[in-house]
Amino acid sequence: MIYLDHLASTPLDPQVLEAMLPWMRIDAAGNPHAAHPAGWRAADAIEQARAEVAALVGAQPGEVVFTSGATEANALAVLGGVLASGGCVVSAVEHASILGCLPELRRRGHPVTVLPVDGSGLVDPAGLDSALSGLPKPSLVSVMAANNEVGTVQPLAELAAVAARHGATMHSDAVQALGTRTLDMAALGLHGLSLSGHKLYGPMGIGALIVRPPFRPVPASAGGGQQRGLRAGTLPTPLCVGLGAACRLARTRREEDARRIGALRDRLWQRLRDQLPGIRRNGAADGLAGCLNVTLPGIDAADLLLDLPELAVATGSACHSGAGEPSHVLLALGLSAADAHASLRLGLGRGTTVAEVDEAADRLTTALGSATLGSANPGE
Ligand code: PMP
Repeated sequence: MIYLDHLASTPLDPQVLEAMLPWMRIDAAGNPHAAHPAGWRAADAIEQARAEVAALVGAQPGEVVFTSGATEANALAVLGGVLASGGCVVSAVEHASILGCLPELRRRGHPVTVLPVDGSGLVDPAGLDSALSGLPKPSLVSVMAANNEVGTVQPLAELAAVAARHGATMHSDAVQALGTRTLDMAALGLHGLSLSGHKLYGPMGIGALIVRPPFRPVPASAGGGQQRGLRAGTLPTPLCVGLGAACRLARTRREEDARRIGALRDRLWQRLRDQLPGIRRNGAADGLAGCLNVTLPGIDAADLLLDLPELAVATGSACHSGAGEPSHVLLALGLSAADAHASLRLGLGRGTTVAEVDEAADRLTTALGSATLGSANPGE
């Protein structure tokens, strides 16, 4: 199989697995919150992991709140953050785990503004400025660092500066950016940041919300008061250790990964463009190194993939696959529903090779065969 779906999930790095394994053995058992040597050992390992997570994003270890993943981190930031404030501003291309919080906020009477994006998926800082002018204070702003479908990287520093002028709290879903980009929360002026283990060559089922003062979301759960009361529950030592190891690797590898993966992405795009006249690229050209989103006008991408079981790629966000709905991100960029259904997301990663990229381009070209790009989509 040629795995080009790294934006949906990255494989576990062998070094991360090695770091986790000792903590999965029976003799390492011990509740990290217990007051005996087994508990203290586990707690130490978790605190080291917390420091690695913090170091990746320019935060303090005490600001890291482990969660079950980015979905939970985003819900804690947005639902918990808005409960503690007035209004909320998000972009139209946020992940479903952010957009899905909005109906509940509206139901509770909080004013919510969804900012449009331009044709490449960018949020305009001037649009944020006018949205915040119309909202009660203090507000929460949540704009993702990089989009998971088209790879567009947002001008976070500018957006955070606008939020700061309005006294708003600034959160960012940085799930996709952290593997190949440098993000320093202090330098950017971010109060909250979400990340996920399985987008960083770490384990599934773990993520984190980084919470920097004065941000203090209202917790969603009660219990033993762990993690400053922000997210109660016994911490899973192997998963926390795995996330720490993944963050350490990301910190040392992200520049080299970005260079190598970006070059492969450019090669893939060149081959597809040469072999498939009429193909179009979506998103900003200087987007995430590992993301190539293309439209093959007139094609049904889901049908095409049925003919290519050896190729793991996505037709939109993995979270939406099977729903049959056109991607809300592509629609927000201005694509028609037909063009959204004709789009593919190719996600390259650390293990992707030149041979895989060339073969993926050739297989797509062969599968498309005599199809003429640009003809009317049968769905419209
Ligand atoms: N945000 C973005 C941008 C994502 O791509 C994803 C995963 N598709 C999530 C949040 C949710 O992450 P998790 O799977 O850790 O809940």
